Amino acid sequence: MSLFEKFRPIQQAREDLLANGINPFHLTIEKILSPTEAVINGHPTILVGTNNYLGLTFHPDCIQASQEALAREGTGTTGSRMANGSFSSHGDLERAIADFYGVPFAVVFSTGYQANLGVLSALAGPGDTILMDGDSHASIYDGCRLGGAEVLRFKHNDVTDLDKKLRRLGDRSRRTLIIVEGIYSMLGDRAPLKDIVEVKKKYGATLVVDEAHSLGVLGERGRGLAEEDGVEQDVDCIVGTFSKSLGSTGGFGISIHPEFELIRYTSRPYIFTASPCPSVIASTKVALRIIRETPQLRQQLWENSQQLYAGLTKIGYTLGAEVGPIIAAMIPSKEQALAMWQGLLEQGIYVNLMIPPATPNGESLLRCSVSAAHTPKQLETIIESFANVYSPLKEHAASLST
Ligand code: PMP
Repeated sequence: MSLFEKFRPIQQAREDLLANGINPFHLTIEKILSPTEAVINGHPTILVGTNNYLGLTFHPDCIQASQEALAREGTGTTGSRMANGSFSSHGDLERAIADFYGVPFAVVFSTGYQANLGVLSALAGPGDTILMDGDSHASIYDGCRLGGAEVLRFKHNDVTDLDKKLRRLGDRSRRTLIIVEGIYSMLGDRAPLKDIVEVKKKYGATLVVDEAHSLGVLGERGRGLAEEDGVEQDVDCIVGTFSKSLGSTGGFGISIHPEFELIRYTSRPYIFTASPCPSVIASTKVALRIIRETPQLRQQLWENSQQLYAGLTKIGYTLGAEVGPIIAAMIPSKEQALAMWQGLLEQGIYVNLMIPPATPNGESLLRCSVSAAHTPKQLETIIESFANVYSPLKEHAASLST
C-alpha cells in the first residue's frame, strides 16, 4: 500500500458529500463585504461563523494602520526574529500586550496555533507532566506533544477528576502544567476557573489558560476569563490569538513570571518560523487599543449574543448551556446537520458545521459565532432562517400526535 492510498476513505467521503451538492469544508467566500456580510455562491450572505467577535476586521483605524505599515515596512519580514532580527513594531506590540495585561513581558507568535505550540512545549518537557482538559483545541493537543512531557487528560470541566489525577501524581504534581480554555470553542462553555485555581494551588502545579475566545469578550477590561473570575494573579500564563476579537492573525503568550521572557530561546515555534508581517502587527496593536477604549463593543456583543440565544431557544433548539458569543445548536444527526447547513446557506446564512470526530461527545453542531457588528435585523433573519430549515418544536408536536 502506497502512502497515498490511505487518502482513499477521505476521497470517498468527499465524493459522497459532493454527490449531494454539499462541500462544507471547501467553501469559497467570493467577496467579503463587511465583518458580517459576504457573497457566497453568488448570493449575499450573512456571516455568523467568523469568530470576528468585535467586528474589527474593517475598522478604519486598523485598516489605516495596516496600510501605513505596509507602505513603510514592506509586505513581510522574510524570516525569524532570532535569525533575522525583530522589527521595532514587534517589540512595540509585545509591550502593548504586556501593558494590557499588567505583566512584565509578552511574546508574540506568528499564529495562535503556534502560540500554544510554543508556550506549552517550552514550559513542559521530558520528566514533566501536562494535565489537559479533554475538550481542548487541537493546538493544545499538538503543543502538549511537542515538548515531550507526559500528557494526561482530565474530564471536560471536571475539577474533581483534575484533583484526583493530581493527587495520584504525588510529588510530580509540582512539575505539572494544567491547561484549560477560557471559553471552549465548540459549545461556548467556560472553564470553572476559580475552582481550577484552588486545585492548582493545593498541589503547587502551574496553570495556563488559552483565552483565544475570551479575549475582548470577558472581563471588565476585556482581558478574558481570568479577569472576569478575579484570578489573574493565580494564572501562571495566558495564551491568546489575534485571529478572533483582534481581527488579524498571530498569537501571544504572557505570564506573571519574569522567566517567561526566556521561552524565546527554547521555543521552536518561535525560533524556526517567520515573524508576523508589519501590516498584521500594526492592525493588531490598534485593535488592542480599541478593545481597551471601547467597552461598548463588548456590551453590544453580549446584547447580540443574548438576542440570538433567546431567539434560537424560543424556536426549540437545544443549545450549549451558557449564553455567550459561541452559540452551538445541537442537531440530532450528522446527515441532518449537513442538510441544515446547506439549507441555511441557500437562505443566505453562513454558520460553522461541526461534526464528529472534531466535536465533543460525537455531537453534530451548527455553530454560530456572534459579532458586535451584527445588527438586530441580521440576528432576526438568522433566527427566521433557522426556523425555516428545521423546526424542533413542530417536529416535537408531530411526534406527539403520531
Ligand atoms: N486556541 C483555541 C482555543 C482556538 O479555538 C484556536 C483557533 N480556533 C487557536 C488556539 C488557534 O488560533 P489561530 O487560528 O489564531 O492559529
